[in-house]
Amino acid sequence: MSKQQFQCPDCNEIFTLEDTVFMEPESDQLIELYQGKLNLYACRNCGKQVWIDRDMVYKDTPRKKVIFYKADISEAQIDQQLDDVQDKLGFQTDKSEDQPAWRLTVNHVDFVEKIYLHIHEYDDRVIEYIKSFLFNHNPGLEPTKHDLRYDFSCKKQEELRFMAIDRKTKQAVFQIDFDLDDYHNLEDELLGEEEQRNRLHACFRGDANYVQVEDLVEQNSEADTLIE
Ligand SMILES: [Zn+2]
Repeated sequence: MSKQQFQCPDCNEIFTLEDTVFMEPESDQLIELYQGKLNLYACRNCGKQVWIDRDMVYKDTPRKKVIFYKADISEAQIDQQLDDVQDKLGFQTDKSEDQPAWRLTVNHVDFVEKIYLHIHEYDDRVIEYIKSFLFNHNPGLEPTKHDLRYDFSCKKQEELRFMAIDRKTKQAVFQIDFDLDDYHNLEDELLGEEEQRNRLHACFRGDANYVQVEDLVEQNSEADTLIE
């Protein structure tokens, strides 16, 4: 692990911190992440609260899952980053049983959402597929204008709730509920058999290590043919 310098946006004071935050299930760091307190520091010079955008890694060893958040990279750098992570981990391209599944995220909200889904045993590939379905079947909902977010706070047992967030105002504009039985049926259909799973993976970048609805929406017709 190496150190990195960060700057207070108010007074330009320089902080030196570890460049990456590591967290595990039930760790203090994860609780702070959920509370929005992780990476918040009081500047020792001006006293203001500063949010430091740095890399984060969530690792669940028993359940073989690693989720990365890469700070400060552009859309154009995602493919390169996928290669870099693969190299860094020393993972083989032919996936062995022992190798954890991993995901790259480049957006803080995506990172939190993927961890939450993993902890609650939802598959993010199916969730992103549902988002593409909702985009395609709700006039007024557009991937260029809205983000669809899984709503962690919904306690209804029989439904998954998604919030449509206006990208400009960052406000929730409406909510859509998705039947949990339909989720499980989709999970069986999309991931149950290897051939179908491979077809779904082909819709995502980086051999499905970057799993975001935008890739499904862009290949609208391809994703739509996956399910009868
Ligand atoms: Zn400062």
